[in-house]
Amino acid sequence: MLIKRILPAILLLAVAVYFIARYNGPEPGVTTTIDRNNLEKYWKSKDVTFVEDQFRLEKCTASITSRFRILDFELSMKIKTTPGAVGQLNFSTTKVPDDKNFRGYAVMINNSDYSTGLAQKTGSLSKIRNNFIRTADDNEWFDLDVTVAGNRISVSVNGKLISEYTQPQNAKRLENLTGMVLSRSFISLRKTSTQGEILVADMKIKPITEVKSRMDLPVKQDSLADVIDSLNQREFPLIDYHVHLKGGLTMDQARQHARENGLCYGVAANCGLKFPVTNDSTLNSYLKSIQKEPVFKAMQCEGREWVTLFTPEAVAGFDYIFTDGMTWTDDKGRRMRLWIPEETFVDNDQQFMEMFVSKIEAILDGEPIDIHVNPTYLPAQLASRYDELWTKERMDRVINALVRNQVALEINSRFKLPSIAFIKRAKAAGVKFTFGTNNASNNDLNRLEYSIKVLRTVGLTAEDMFLPKPKSERKILKKGLPAKITG
Ligand SMILES: [Zn+2]
Repeated sequence: MLIKRILPAILLLAVAVYFIARYNGPEPGVTTTIDRNNLEKYWKSKDVTFVEDQFRLEKCTASITSRFRILDFELSMKIKTTPGAVGQLNFSTTKVPDDKNFRGYAVMINNSDYSTGLAQKTGSLSKIRNNFIRTADDNEWFDLDVTVAGNRISVSVNGKLISEYTQPQNAKRLENLTGMVLSRSFISLRKTSTQGEILVADMKIKPITEVKSRMDLPVKQDSLADVIDSLNQREFPLIDYHVHLKGGLTMDQARQHARENGLCYGVAANCGLKFPVTNDSTLNSYLKSIQKEPVFKAMQCEGREWVTLFTPEAVAGFDYIFTDGMTWTDDKGRRMRLWIPEETFVDNDQQFMEMFVSKIEAILDGEPIDIHVNPTYLPAQLASRYDELWTKERMDRVINALVRNQVALEINSRFKLPSIAFIKRAKAAGVKFTFGTNNASNNDLNRLEYSIKVLRTVGLTAEDMFLPKPKSERKILKKGLPAKITG
């Protein structure tokens, strides 16, 4: 009996000892630079050519694969891609790529513009912590750092953490992704596209041996985290497009929150009359200040006056722009902000609603925005009658305006708007959606609870979701700005 119980353990130990004894990789605990002199010693290369000390992967089949198995390591390199080049850095993986039965993890290398090529961009820990934000450009060198220590994986691009993941003890995976776990196995860098080329320079690897840095960390997991994990595994773009650095929230805190919870963030500046960003000059300096941050760069266009304050060229510096229907001037010339009771005048409920819907239509028809946010928000005195006041006819007027202007509709997590009924009608009409929080401070960043609830109730797929347009096709450049304010 005893033999039966300890035999598997002995076998496992023997296998482990065998592999550790057989280890023929770079020296543990020491950083080794991989160059053309020692590449073949440690790596098996396929279709790799050299340009001085850089190595070039050009063919779709080009790859380098470690000759050694490794569990914990620090790996860094400089990479330059040319247009169309896509690659993957795989670890805990098989010697020969097996796409049908993939093992280990994949870090994406893809610098294509938004809505072109693959949606996942450089630094994405694919299907685990997807990154949809451009972190590097073609034809420019960037630094890629990947560390595996214990059950912790981290991926940085140009010194900014892009993906972080702590693998739980019994990691839940979709049926076809069960091999996506850590193991003592091979590292491989390979090109996966026929176009372009990938240049690699200054590659360094340090096998980690210290027990402390290999420690397994506990993972907090709840039902929402499970849902988020499974959406990531399906490559659903979990992007919160509407985050503000307000109420003390810093860029680092926002990004940490996004990484920890498996989301990507779009950070928006409030731009308009009586806001900090109020002309091209303040807008450009704001953009410059966040240029290197791995977040979508967004402009929230405030009030109706914004169209007179900025030029299309300056606005086109943002990945996307959005506005809401909460600020407008009524028939009696009163400028209203619907979230401030003292500034909101409802003389007659039905009349107010008709005027409100007309204002939203005018905004969507006149302003070259990408997303309509905080949609269907009603002032406090009407909010409890939401379902009654948002009649089918009114919903359809807004939905038709979204469709004819190709404006995406935000599903707002903080306000829990619009209603499920509204979203169902919008989906049937072909409207694209975004998720957004519109946080007011540093303690109300959520995990897109309402948006994810809607996703599951209505059955949204990746195809229903908005993605920013490529630079040359931004709506602001195509449509320009209206000659006068829309109301
Ligand atoms: Zn906002």
